Amino acid sequence: MTKRVFFFGEGKAEGDSKRRDLLGGKGAGLAEMTGLGLPVPPGLTISTEVCTAYFANPKEPGLPEGVDAEIAEALKKVEASTGMTFGDPENPLLVSVRSGARASMPGMMDTILNLGLNDACAEGLAKKTGDARFAYDAYRRFIAMYSDVALEIAREPFNTALDKLRVKTAQAKGHDVTRINAEELKKKVPDSELSAEDLKALVVEFKAIVKSASGKDFPSDPLEQLRGAIRAVFKSWNTHRAIVYRRMHDIPDSWGTACNVQAMVFGNLGDTSATGVAFTRNPSTGEKKLFGEWLPKAQGEDVVAGIRTPFPIDGSPDSLELKMPDAYRALTKICDTLEAHFRDMQDLEFTIQSGKLYMLQCRSGKRTSRAAVRIAVEQCKEKLITEEEAILRVDASSLDQLLHPTLDPKAPKKFLARGLAASPGAAVGHIVFSADEAEKRASQGKPVILVRIETSPEDIHGMKAARGIITSRGGMTSHAAVIARGMGKACIAGCSAASINYAEEKMTISVYDDAGRQAEVVTLKKGDIVTIDGSSGTIYAGEVPTIPAALAGEFGELMAWADKVRTMKVRANADTPLDARTARSFGAEGIGLCRTEHMFFDEERISAMREMILSDDVQSRERALAKLIPFQRADFVGIFQEMRGLKVTIRLLDPPLHEFLPNDPKQLQQLSRTMGVSVERLQERTKDLHEFNPMLGHRGCRLAVTYPEIYAMQVRAILEAAAQVASEGTEVYPEIMIPLAITAGELDRMRVIVDKVAAEVFAGANGKAAVPFSFGTMVELPRAAIVADELAKVAEFFSFGTNDLTQSAMGLSRDDAGKFLPAYVESGLLPKDPFVSIDTEGVGALVKLAVERGRKTRPDIKLGICGEHGGDPASCHFFQAVGLDYVSCSPFRVPIARLAVSQAALRLRAKPA
Ligand code: PEP
Ligand code: MG
Repeated sequence: MTKRVFFFGEGKAEGDSKRRDLLGGKGAGLAEMTGLGLPVPPGLTISTEVCTAYFANPKEPGLPEGVDAEIAEALKKVEASTGMTFGDPENPLLVSVRSGARASMPGMMDTILNLGLNDACAEGLAKKTGDARFAYDAYRRFIAMYSDVALEIAREPFNTALDKLRVKTAQAKGHDVTRINAEELKKKVPDSELSAEDLKALVVEFKAIVKSASGKDFPSDPLEQLRGAIRAVFKSWNTHRAIVYRRMHDIPDSWGTACNVQAMVFGNLGDTSATGVAFTRNPSTGEKKLFGEWLPKAQGEDVVAGIRTPFPIDGSPDSLELKMPDAYRALTKICDTLEAHFRDMQDLEFTIQSGKLYMLQCRSGKRTSRAAVRIAVEQCKEKLITEEEAILRVDASSLDQLLHPTLDPKAPKKFLARGLAASPGAAVGHIVFSADEAEKRASQGKPVILVRIETSPEDIHGMKAARGIITSRGGMTSHAAVIARGMGKACIAGCSAASINYAEEKMTISVYDDAGRQAEVVTLKKGDIVTIDGSSGTIYAGEVPTIPAALAGEFGELMAWADKVRTMKVRANADTPLDARTARSFGAEGIGLCRTEHMFFDEERISAMREMILSDDVQSRERALAKLIPFQRADFVGIFQEMRGLKVTIRLLDPPLHEFLPNDPKQLQQLSRTMGVSVERLQERTKDLHEFNPMLGHRGCRLAVTYPEIYAMQVRAILEAAAQVASEGTEVYPEIMIPLAITAGELDRMRVIVDKVAAEVFAGANGKAAVPFSFGTMVELPRAAIVADELAKVAEFFSFGTNDLTQSAMGLSRDDAGKFLPAYVESGLLPKDPFVSIDTEGVGALVKLAVERGRKTRPDIKLGICGEHGGDPASCHFFQAVGLDYVSCSPFRVPIARLAVSQAALRLRAKPA
């Protein structure tokens, strides 16, 4: 049987980071730190397998047999190591009980502190510490926390009782509290002002609340408390917020969480005690400098929960560096040890009890993608990690954050307030005050900024939907800051100039001038627009224009390392010269898909297009096409110039024609005038074009089977443009691509059209020199994949259109699946949205088959993919494994794809598929 309970303490640990799967991140970190001889309070980790076993029978979850005894045995060791005993009124051992999954899920699961207290032990603790106020403060916190987490009793009555006590204390001190809200009351009467007697009375009141809510007494047996807490921690693996978080971060449900039971140390034990969090490097910028926050006389959760705004660890008059220099020095030394040991940036939690520093947690720190890139590159230069490790350290999809626009520095801005720069990036949106409202408006396509006093894990769906987040309270390590950084959303935390009123859905901001004088008071209501700059922590009124991201410095270095190891090329899907330029600036090595239909929607062009579609005979169609050709040629000239020296795959017209038809009577009348055809006739023709299932109707190369002149015009435009650009001395490589083919016969026919036009263009009267080009097809229907060996007789390249291939292979409409696919993913029927990440078993199998069959006929066939999956890192891994030559994705995703295919190459080299 695998070991289920792992003790750590006194320099020895039964686990280590190699057993992270069992110990979870927190457990592994505690074990490693203990093994390194760092000051870690002793404790035990109950493995993730126990959590899985706990849920083995979903109808009746429970701890597996025998594990109680193993916990008791490890607890004995904790007692021996601390010299304290669980439940001993003279010398009570108190513990914390915390979750800790394999992947970090900050704030998503439950924690209980000060466990082991009952009336006798509280009295004992008061005697032992000589601080009754401290003992009863710990006891009332424990009852409230335990009741919430383990007994599932609502928090409100506890908070109300506490507020009442605050009012009483305030009045006793002569404060006027008649028109004061709960927040101001908390500031007026901080916890430290509540007396021991009052806290003791509060404990009695809290216990009465428990009795009336649950019908049972609050458990006074510490072992019973412990069992309840362990069960609660395991149960919190399956709360709604934890499940949402797992879906967002691809964390499998099957992993489960470990549970850590650890001897308590107290950061709230008098003036020489404190608590804090630290990062060995700056998690926002990546700068190599200790970064963190601390609070004197406070317990661990206070910093994370944002109840009091903490102080910076260094560089301020309230810093730990100045206030507790010995502890600060010990901390910096430990930071160095841990970074060198784990060879990565660490996120640490520490507590100082009566001047002595204790480490409570270490893990690889979450960071913005900007920081991830800088840290990876700098650590490589410091010889801490290799170039290949640096490449693997950066989450490819998170690069999105770097590729986003920033505020235009030259644009006029109306400054409103400054808070903490918690997560970089610029965002513009309508302000909303609840997560539900954020989700609702975002689903209507409106950009929103979520405004909260502070966020909690319940807000996660709103944070996901919002473009950016503002909180009025909390520090750089508050929930909002940590989660926003992980999501890559702009976030301003702790903006205390903003006073937020949920009931009236408004935010009042006191705007200060440069001299620090209050200049005006601005009130913003739900729906008002603001712009936030998460990199500087600034809020501006209205919409401020943005400028595109610039990619240089460490980013460029990392990309250069990535480019050295990758074997697949990365192209872009680009339809205009501007797209092409953006793509090139991001490192695209060609265009993998130029969708020509988008070129027909401009005002001047659409009427010629409509004329063409509504024409009854070839002559009128050719007349209309002749109007279009100069536009098409000019587009291609622009694209070829931008992509000089690189391949450009141009797809001939793909969508069903009715997509271009006029739908309002005015447009129809105008068309009737231009064409000299009656409105009635045009209406009839429109009706003729109606299809029941246009996606499977008259579209793609089916169009050119009946109207070859359409493709002929497009091929002419491509080749004439190529010839023109080539004659100016620019290298050009067009690739003509046929959409939606299902038979080799179709391709034969298309090839005849192409060759005929090519012969005319290159041998034409103006004697243009021939430009080499290639001819290929999209593979986007199951039949095409199956008969790929036949198609490859004609096609010199395949480009997998995985959007349509997913739609047609799975029988799921790509335009309607949004209504029901989320239910499939949420309930685990599908591991991921197949339109985002390739369904390797089904759609992927078709790709694999087509690769094998295509190569059998034509060993040097060029193979690429141009569906949306080209920009998805997990899909890139699959495409690397099946041996494609390139992926093509939208211009902004090119860097993501470059990194993703490099990582895929490295991972497959280490572990072939
Ligand atoms: C595809 O089907 O994957 C594709 C790239 O074409 P479109 O998205 O234009 O249908
Ligand atoms: Mg398609």
